[in-house]
Amino acid sequence: MKVIYTAENRLLVGNAQNLLEQAGISVFLKNEHAASGVGELSAIDSWPELWVDEADFSKAKAVIEPLFSDEVLASWQCEECGEENEASFEVCWQCQHNKP
Ligand SMILES: [Zn+2]
Repeated sequence: MKVIYTAENRLLVGNAQNLLEQAGISVFLKNEHAASGVGELSAIDSWPELWVDEADFSKAKAVIEPLFSDEVLASWQCEECGEENEASFEVCWQCQHNKP
């Protein structure tokens, strides 16, 4: 087994887990409930971790890669007015057209 992904935010981990499961990759979630026990432990020890079989590792990596690629964070162009918008904007800042 290998760790494919870990993050402080368990929602992000859950998101990655969903993607992997939808792709037919079985994952093992470790430290799922550890965050409540933070104290003596250093914070990073208690991050939820997603583990996959080594045989599935490259496939799993390809599946979750888009979550963290520049493409996801890249700006997008409005279909309506052609304006560039930051990735975090859900609608065009100029004309309020929905993100494509
Ligand atoms: Zn626009």
